Amino acid sequence: MQITLNSQIQYLKSIGPKRAEILATIGIKTVHDLLYYFPTRYLNRTTILDSNKAFKFVASGYNNEITIIGKVVESEEIRYGKTNIYKVSFKDDKGFFECVWFKGIKYFRNRFKEGDYFAISAKPVITKYGHLQFAHPDFDKLANEESLDFLNTGKIIPFYKIPSQLKNINLGDLSLRRLISTAVEHCINEITETLPTNVISKNNLLNIKSTIINKHFPESTGVLDRANNRLKFEEFFYIESLIALKKKRHHAKQNGITFKIDVPLVKQFLNSLTFELTNAQIKTLHEIRLDMESKIPMNRLIQGDVGSGKTIVALISLLIAVSNNKQAAFMAPTEILAIQHFHNLKKMLIDFPISVELLIGGQKPKDKKLAYEKMGNGFPAIYVGTHALLELKANFSNLGLVIIDEQHRFGVAQRSQLITKSISPDVLIMTATPIPRTLTMTVYGDLDVSIIDEMPKNRIPIKTYLRSDKNLDNIYKFITENVNKGSQAFIVYPLVEESDKIELKAAQSYFEELANSVFSNFKVGLVHGKMQWNEKQKAMDLFAKKELNILISTTVIEVGIDIPNANIMVINDAHRFGLSQLHQLRGRIGRGSEQGHCILVTPDELSKKQFDATFSFDYLSDAQIQKNKTIIRLNALVTHTSGFRLAEIDMKLRGPGDIYGIKQSGLPDFKYADLVEDQAILSKAKNIAFEIIENDPDLSKEENKVIKNNIKQFYKNNLFFSNIA
Ligand code: ADP
Ligand code: MG
Repeated sequence: MQITLNSQIQYLKSIGPKRAEILATIGIKTVHDLLYYFPTRYLNRTTILDSNKAFKFVASGYNNEITIIGKVVESEEIRYGKTNIYKVSFKDDKGFFECVWFKGIKYFRNRFKEGDYFAISAKPVITKYGHLQFAHPDFDKLANEESLDFLNTGKIIPFYKIPSQLKNINLGDLSLRRLISTAVEHCINEITETLPTNVISKNNLLNIKSTIINKHFPESTGVLDRANNRLKFEEFFYIESLIALKKKRHHAKQNGITFKIDVPLVKQFLNSLTFELTNAQIKTLHEIRLDMESKIPMNRLIQGDVGSGKTIVALISLLIAVSNNKQAAFMAPTEILAIQHFHNLKKMLIDFPISVELLIGGQKPKDKKLAYEKMGNGFPAIYVGTHALLELKANFSNLGLVIIDEQHRFGVAQRSQLITKSISPDVLIMTATPIPRTLTMTVYGDLDVSIIDEMPKNRIPIKTYLRSDKNLDNIYKFITENVNKGSQAFIVYPLVEESDKIELKAAQSYFEELANSVFSNFKVGLVHGKMQWNEKQKAMDLFAKKELNILISTTVIEVGIDIPNANIMVINDAHRFGLSQLHQLRGRIGRGSEQGHCILVTPDELSKKQFDATFSFDYLSDAQIQKNKTIIRLNALVTHTSGFRLAEIDMKLRGPGDIYGIKQSGLPDFKYADLVEDQAILSKAKNIAFEIIENDPDLSKEENKVIKNNIKQFYKNNLFFSNIA
């Protein structure tokens, strides 16, 4: 029978229905699937040491993993005290080495037959008898002819992920290599190119056939790199094409509101400000105005560091909307922040004929009902609220603009929920840069982006210190001195918002302890997540009015709170917070013209860890970075004040998967590419994809047909692209 790309795997030699069934459980059903089952690792001669070199390396203090290849000389079980040790001796051209197992001997006992070749990887030691020894190493059995090839010609050997169900049917690396080799031989010519040929030639990419062949059987590490690059490029290219299409579709919509942007009231308001807008604020406002004037509904993200002054930009946009007799919604992630925005807006608009309404969960039913009524009958006003704005009853009948503050706190689903509420209001999303700038265009790819990359002129960068919890007395003294001079201070404890009774008690006891002893001469307040919103509010109000000197709090104050006179923050157990969370917390101070001080308190041993604060990732190995994550994180805060820079560091420390914002974005997982490592490929793929979609939005040109065909294959069911038909 003729084997083709779409043949069921069972028709391959040595497979049959039973094995085929098992292979199907890991997604290999056809020959095509098999060709795309790529190796996860390679054995490459340049990374292999012989026993002599390995010995010298270890003797001179080298303390990393080493890979070595040898032939089994003998294996034995040795009685050692009460237990047995299993030891296998190997030999290569330059000498001998040994592997030992202390546990699971029964499993390893039969695997090392005399004369067989193995590749061994582990961190070796030199024993007191002067032997090079690997304990519990990773090992791969090599076929004899393969290992000779490998040693003589420098061939690269692929290793696959072999799940246990494959092991059970005796399908290991060796059989897979043979199987795939057969598949390549018979079917590689049937593989059709999955990228436009002009994209391949212009960018000197490897074609798909060579890519597949070289992924399995690399000619050289150089070609293997090219194969990997091509797969990464392709993955990014398709996601960027989808983003470009999504954006293009949006821009083709004409059902937006055309706001009149030349509003006398806005001019008056600008004249009433006590400060001058920064250039970045002015530029952003200009972009928003153009959007609001246009028929295309606005779909814009404002990215600006903590304290860069996003609220005022939002407010001016809200003013434009309401002056046009439309309703405008301003949504915040927490009640505290919603209430703060509500009061601030009311205060700033006191001399202006603009109504501001509040809508939050814990509100009095009577007030809520009133606000709902106004919403329903189209009353033009600024409606400030939390996700209560999303509740069913919140039916705006005349919604013109939606602003979402601190968008990284909301998921994509919530975002689209509000947006689909009405026909096509303008949408403005604000975030304090939880992700590196280079990724913004992908994670928020379908949005237009304005970046506020400039701080108001009066700001002095906050000073940040790392201190031991044994130093608390001095820290309290520092607070006392400054409060006596008129400052206000936050003292933050790492109790989570959703905390249970125990933590509530803890917050209470921290409060009582400090309020009744060191700070008994001051007025001290407390806010935590378990308080009723109006109690929280009362404490915040008192603090804002300077009737409290010190506010003890949990992370409820993390987002958006703006109290310019507070310029000291102590963060207890700072090591328990993430980097972006610490940056957000710290952003609560240094908002006025006084010097801000942020003191990160950690256990003694951590604060003592001397780590060069000018460290650069370039000088640290991955292992070093992983081992010192916490101290690197804290030092990064001491050294840097820019949220953009910190986001990059955070990403290096944690990988993109764990970064807030990115997880929330609904962006699919990548199979080949890595958002951190492969940013250069990403931006190349993005530029090319956007250019193609710009020139051929329907993908109707002959050369782009392949994109159209493949795009459906990619990310079919992904929320991120849910609104592209
Ligand atoms: P964020 O971008 O973190 O939301 P806010 O909008 O809360 O920051 O602004 C922080 C503080 O800076 C507020 O007290 C605000 O009134 C003030 N502010 C905003 N723009 C300027 C400016 N151009 N000059 C001086 N102060 C400003
Ligand atoms: Mg804000």
